[in-house]
Amino acid sequence: MDYKKYIKIVENWPKEGIQFKDITPLMDNGKAFKSAVDEIVQFANEKNIDIVVGPEARGFIIGCPVSYALEVGFAPVRKEGKLPREVIKVDYGLEYGKNVLTIHKDAIKPGQRVLITDDLLATGGTIEATIKLVEELGGIVVGCAFLIELTYLDGLKKLDGYDVLTLMKY
Ligand code: 5GP
Repeated sequence: MDYKKYIKIVENWPKEGIQFKDITPLMDNGKAFKSAVDEIVQFANEKNIDIVVGPEARGFIIGCPVSYALEVGFAPVRKEGKLPREVIKVDYGLEYGKNVLTIHKDAIKPGQRVLITDDLLATGGTIEATIKLVEELGGIVVGCAFLIELTYLDGLKKLDGYDVLTLMKY
C-alpha cells in the first residue's frame, strides 16, 4: 500500500526548520492503519515475540495493536515521572531536545524476546535508549519496527545488527 499519501508534512513544527511527519491521517483511515499494523505483525510473526515495547506516545499507538494481534503483552517506555512503580532510566538525545526514558524494572524478564515499535525513526536516539532499557533488563531485541524512517538523519546506523522494518522512507 502507498502509505505516504496518508502522511501530512507539517512545516516548521514543533520548531522552526523541522518538517514534522504527521501520522494521524494514516490512523484516521481504518484500512491503511490496519494494513500498516498487519505488515508489522507479519514481520514479527516468525520471531517468537514474548512482548512488545514502545516509547511514548506514538510507540503505543503502533505497538498496542501489534501486541494484541500477536497475543503477547505490551510494556510502555515513558518519560521520567510517569510510571508509578520502580523504574530503570536512561538519558537520550532527540531530533529536537533532550529527555529521559524509563521502564518498569519488572516489565521484561531476562531472556524474553522483544519487538520494539515506534512511529518514526529520526536520529535514532529514542530507539537506542529504548534498546538500552530492554537489554539492561535482560531482554533480547529481535526486531524494531517503524512506520517511517527519515533516512537523511542516519538513525539506522544506530541499529546496526538489529532486524529493522520501516514502511516508508523520506
Ligand atoms: P529520534 O529519537 O529517532 O531522533 O526521534 C524519533 C522520535 O521522535 C519518535 O519517538 C517520534 O515519535 C518522534 N518524532 C521525531 N520527528 C517526528 C516526526 O516528524 N513525526 C513524528 N510523527 N514523530 C517524530
